[in-house]
Amino acid sequence: MNQIPLDSGAPTMKSYHSEVPCTWCDGCGDYGIWTALKRALVELKIAPHETLLCYDVGCHGNMSDKLLGYRFHGLHGRVIPFAAGAKLANPKLPVLAFGGDGASFSEGIGHLVHGIRSNYPIVFVLHNNGNYGLTTGQASSLTAQGVPMNTAPNGIPEHTLNSMDFVFSLEPTFVARGFSGDIKQMTMILKKAIEHHGFAFVDILQSCPTYNHFATHDYLLEHCYHVEDEGHDPTDLKKARQIAVDTSKRISTGILYKIEDIPSFYERLVPRQGKKTTPVEEVEIVDVSGYLKRFV
Ligand code: SF4
Ligand code: MG
Repeated sequence: MNQIPLDSGAPTMKSYHSEVPCTWCDGCGDYGIWTALKRALVELKIAPHETLLCYDVGCHGNMSDKLLGYRFHGLHGRVIPFAAGAKLANPKLPVLAFGGDGASFSEGIGHLVHGIRSNYPIVFVLHNNGNYGLTTGQASSLTAQGVPMNTAPNGIPEHTLNSMDFVFSLEPTFVARGFSGDIKQMTMILKKAIEHHGFAFVDILQSCPTYNHFATHDYLLEHCYHVEDEGHDPTDLKKARQIAVDTSKRISTGILYKIEDIPSFYERLVPRQGKKTTPVEEVEIVDVSGYLKRFV
């Protein structure tokens, strides 16, 4: 039985070790994201009991018991509401939410819209493998049009949703893109996202060797480049949107856009202003037995 270590020493990769064996396919990009996440938390000296990791249903969601700490594994497409709720209850806690491209850009898309426009102070990591992997490779709205997939052997007739253009239309305060084969850069991105004080949207292009044969590990390795190597200014909104959206020849990765002077949702809540305590610290035990007696 895994126990969350509560000692105050600096966390190590071992602190996050879970004895539950991984079930991902060989070569799955989830292994890289999992490693980068643990590295980012360790490098920021965040111990397992000092953060909350939230997952919805999908291959990525099977990470929820592959590391130690406080984790919430909830309904498909609903990870943003419960992560945001936890963060608002305890704003001192770094909260990360993980979702797949299927859920996040279909049934959960409304939550993504309001997560970004609300600027909830959480990190949202999109495991973007371009399909519904857990349910054996159905097309998502981010699958490339015309590519044969399970349940769509002739390719999907709809056009592929331009996810980055959509995200930028919502006036985000942090947008980054990583690649599951680049653990070093993903670690850097996740650290910056955790340090961001509003909603951090992190798109991770994730290889899925079992079902995604159009954006493979090798394809991503060949096409991704680091924007930091080309002197990209992440406060340049117009340029950020342009390099995020145009992936026709190369795929930009790194911190694409970041502004810190927009208040988060929590900072805009008038009843919370001036409060030194958090809502969880203000919870009181109230004896309601007297009220209940009225009904017996
Ligand atoms: Fe990974 Fe794809 Fe296998 Fe799911 S189906 S575990 S995303 S390789
Ligand atoms: Mg997916």
